[in-house]
Amino acid sequence: MINDKYTNLNDGIYCIDARYICPGNACCYLIVEDNEIAIIETGTVFTVEGIEEALHHLSLNKEMVRYIIPTHVHLDHAGGAGVLMQKYTNAQLVIHPRGAKHMINPDKLVAGSKAVYGEKKFRELYGEVVPVPEYRMLTMQDRDKIYLKKRILEFRHTPGHAEHHFCIWDQVSQGWFSGDTFGISYEKLGGKQNRFIFPTTSPVQFDPDKLLGSIDLIMKYKPKQIFLTHFSVIKEPAKQAKILREQIESYRKIAIELRFSSNREKKIFNAIKVMTISNIVSKLPCCDIKKVENLLELDFKLNAQGIDIWISKQNEKNKKISTGK
Ligand SMILES: [Zn+2]
Repeated sequence: MINDKYTNLNDGIYCIDARYICPGNACCYLIVEDNEIAIIETGTVFTVEGIEEALHHLSLNKEMVRYIIPTHVHLDHAGGAGVLMQKYTNAQLVIHPRGAKHMINPDKLVAGSKAVYGEKKFRELYGEVVPVPEYRMLTMQDRDKIYLKKRILEFRHTPGHAEHHFCIWDQVSQGWFSGDTFGISYEKLGGKQNRFIFPTTSPVQFDPDKLLGSIDLIMKYKPKQIFLTHFSVIKEPAKQAKILREQIESYRKIAIELRFSSNREKKIFNAIKVMTISNIVSKLPCCDIKKVENLLELDFKLNAQGIDIWISKQNEKNKKISTGK
């Protein structure tokens, strides 16, 4: 059935646009197994309506929602959690142990996001962030599993983008719900078939070694597909992992080269922009460069901020080592 509410990705998996920034930017997923539902990623409070419409269209009841699972607590992934938990009263929130306190009290998360976007933009993007009561949470240690009827979902901790990030392995689809660990690949860049992937290193916990380790962990499972939050499913994970790794290494090199520069964040921004655009042009020679630049402007900005914070921490560490403090 053709509809504009969700995309059916088979194996009981449905992709719903999160209505974040613009269509095609972020999504969440339903996994439906024999009348039990898990919602992976919540998007923001503005995503909730789309989830309700999709459930209605699929003739699913709200009582069937068992689990609501943000991959990490950044607000494009978890901002709608509080409101969803109010609507789906049978559900438990499944969260990384390091993220739980931010769901119980989102003040720090909100303040961090306001520091990046400013008050007005924050309201536009995220609206209200509602806390989740602690007694409705399940925290997942590395390798923990939950069951959706007989369907197993396994949680693996995947630091690198954020310390409070896990990915979810679904045996049925042989796929990962990767949150931000396996990067970003917008369908509107090259179309569904011709995907270009790049890492997301947004502030404040980006760590290249940990991110590379997490990508290796993902690939150990020999996945057939990866369900990205930004945006939807990608195939050929091995090929994409190689491209991701190369770019993370380049990001690190750029940061190290610029580590003592003045105006460093701006220079990192320019360097990753030039590198990424030239990668895109070599893979998608017909693309409209101006359009691509506009589409990726915010991602370049966030990535540059995250890389800049990481290299500051490295400089700080090296200073302590050299002064013996
Ligand atoms: Zn994200």
